[in-house]
Amino acid sequence: MKITDIKVRSFSHMSRQNNDSDGHSHPCDPRQVRQSMLTIVTDDGTEGHCFAPSEVVRPHLINGFARDVLLGEDPYDREKLWQGLAHWQRGGNGQLSDRTLAVVELALWDLTGRKLGILVYKLIGAYRNKVLAYGSTMCGDEVFGGLSSPEDYARYAEVLVKRGYKAIKLHTWMKPVSFAPDPRMDVKACAAVRVAVGADFPLMLDAYHGYSRSKALWLGLELQKLGYTWFEEMMNEASMSSYVWLAENLTMPIIGPETADGKFHTCAEWIKSGACDITRTGVRDIGGIGPSMKIIHLAGASGMNCEVHGSGPGNLTLCAAQKNGTWVERGLLHPFIEYDEVPEYLNAQADAMDADGYVHMPQIPGLGDDINFDYIDNNLV
Ligand code: MG
Repeated sequence: MKITDIKVRSFSHMSRQNNDSDGHSHPCDPRQVRQSMLTIVTDDGTEGHCFAPSEVVRPHLINGFARDVLLGEDPYDREKLWQGLAHWQRGGNGQLSDRTLAVVELALWDLTGRKLGILVYKLIGAYRNKVLAYGSTMCGDEVFGGLSSPEDYARYAEVLVKRGYKAIKLHTWMKPVSFAPDPRMDVKACAAVRVAVGADFPLMLDAYHGYSRSKALWLGLELQKLGYTWFEEMMNEASMSSYVWLAENLTMPIIGPETADGKFHTCAEWIKSGACDITRTGVRDIGGIGPSMKIIHLAGASGMNCEVHGSGPGNLTLCAAQKNGTWVERGLLHPFIEYDEVPEYLNAQADAMDADGYVHMPQIPGLGDDINFDYIDNNLV
């Protein structure tokens, strides 16, 4: 079997989210947005698919790099093909991101699963068929009744508990919110949510991402008193020594790295240096399922959990193939958005959650996306 083509279909669909000036998503009136689907085709007609933001699979990247590495090759040779793309990142003038690597690699996994009639998490080696989800909120805003105050967060936490969530992660206020960032406001929101959900309910905080060491330490000491489960990306992850310092000064678990460059190499340095107590990977952050499994195994070999960042079938696949992790991230959530609505380009939600807070693995060969091909072909842009 040889790869004969790589196609990108761009299509429009309805969205109720918009990004602020710093890239954080918030609710908005319904609007048409553009999305793409990358498809890898083989000489026997098998196809593998992966959705992506259009800029991640723009023609220059697919024609200039992906076709060069993949065409004529065996789609089962994922490690060879991934290494070929990763090598291009050095010589490609910084154009080829880990996100593009991830989309290509996920489409190769999807193709393999569809060809063999098996779910990818079973192909890797499944550990579980359902995963507990944590509800991951959007960043705070200044819209009354949204996520504009500690009371808003507390009310929404009660809604999420009723929906079935068995853990909640707050993203608090970040710029351009007028009063952000402010660790005192973070603590007020975290404390209000703790009161709302009770003493034993698992809670996490993903804070501003750019606090100084002293502000991060003050915030962490308050979170310890509130019994939070982990403390995430409160400082710039490029400064690993800041995380080593913070981990030495807190008893509560620090999780990371999530956005630092360097794939599994960076993660190995964090584990070795004691910069984190729980490590992190996500298919979009470090280039796919293969490199993520290296991190999951590295963490396991180091006696450490690895919690998966982000939603979607690729990340859910990781969660189902690991023992050393508890949750799948579900979101981002907001009181004004109905997250359980199925997007127009799918026939079923990829991470549907039951009333007990479990996301069950889909049962469609490949990564598990139930794709509405007719919708996509009728809404091409
Ligand atoms: Mg995060």
